[in-house]
Amino acid sequence: MNSHVKTETVSASLPPIPFIDVASQRARLGSRIDEAVTRVLNHCRFVNGPEVTELETQLAAFAGAKHAISCSSGTDALAMILMAWGVKAGDAVFCPAFTFCATAEVVPWVGATPVFVDVLDDTFNMDPASLEAAIKVATDRGLNPRVVIPVDLFGQPADLDAIEVIAKAHDLKILCDTAQGFGATWNGKRTGSFGDASATSFFPAKPLGCFGDGGAVFTDDDDLVPVLKSVREHGQGVDKYENVRIGMTGRLDTIQAAILLEKLSIFEDEIAARQRVATRYNEALKDVCVVPAVDPRATSVWAQYTIRLPHGVRDGLAAALQKEGVPTAVYYRIPMHRQPAYAQYPAAGNGLPVCEKLCGEVISLPMHAYLDEASQERVIAAVRRALGA
Ligand SMILES: *Cc1c(COP(=O)(O)O)cnc(C)c1O
Repeated sequence: MNSHVKTETVSASLPPIPFIDVASQRARLGSRIDEAVTRVLNHCRFVNGPEVTELETQLAAFAGAKHAISCSSGTDALAMILMAWGVKAGDAVFCPAFTFCATAEVVPWVGATPVFVDVLDDTFNMDPASLEAAIKVATDRGLNPRVVIPVDLFGQPADLDAIEVIAKAHDLKILCDTAQGFGATWNGKRTGSFGDASATSFFPAKPLGCFGDGGAVFTDDDDLVPVLKSVREHGQGVDKYENVRIGMTGRLDTIQAAILLEKLSIFEDEIAARQRVATRYNEALKDVCVVPAVDPRATSVWAQYTIRLPHGVRDGLAAALQKEGVPTAVYYRIPMHRQPAYAQYPAAGNGLPVCEKLCGEVISLPMHAYLDEASQERVIAAVRRALGA
């Protein structure tokens, strides 16, 4: 048997690398999660229990925001903010077209119109120049420009300096969608502390995830807090049985809050571990593909580690890596403005060429805080081999 065949045999016998590793995190936290859940099972305050209030206090402190309001998902966090602001039919809400659908999905829920904006070629985040163009398109159509939703795609904050200037000039509210970027920084401040309000998600695959669905809203606006809490609880007035506005069931379960408190205690350490993986990937792959660019004003929490390859290459790479037990994923194959459910809505006038290009070129590699050095080397070697390097 020659050495080449041996290598093949060894790599084929290795178990697949998890794309996201929830099991290792659970092993690290040991009995702490079980004990936290048991405490809730014993006190029986499954809704609005003490862990929910404690989590909100700790989340606000972590983000550097005045208030954190926990809720049922990242999508509901976005919707609650639009509902609390009274965004309505005739209003335009500006969303990047290269994002997860939830960013734009909540806009028609309140009767408003999503208007799609192109992204920057290096950071994949909202392009301020395209935002200006989209505002013009909205105004020309008789829509009222009302809100911009910058997304912290793949874990890196959008260019909030530039977006704030444009928002101010056009009297837009800023709703930061930090579902992928919670824990990241911009000019040294954490996400959740920017804009008029922020929404994040605790879906298990996000950088800070729970064991089901969950989310949170962040804001410094004291007046918005009671409105958000009312929206979260069926538009309640003095109590649940007085309804002063249209709301929803938007609460976070106490069990999920208890789990999140344990996970939040190790989150900073996990972010550092993700950053080490990204640095290693960058060094080892920058000569064979386009590695992610982080703005010098930002840090990323690496919700995804996404590389770019010439059009037509990535599906072959994915198949080759799959054979070696290295999973990949494509976020996103179809830009929002070309999704069947969203194609009817306006977009900045130029066809959003960067979104179109990225959708054909991006592919994400395994990324999580428990990716040990041997696994990192396996991913790197497999990518390099598949690209013929
Ligand atoms: C995941 C995600 C959401 C929605 O969060 P859920 O908790 O799954 O509802 C919104 N925006 C972006 C950018 C996301 O990645």
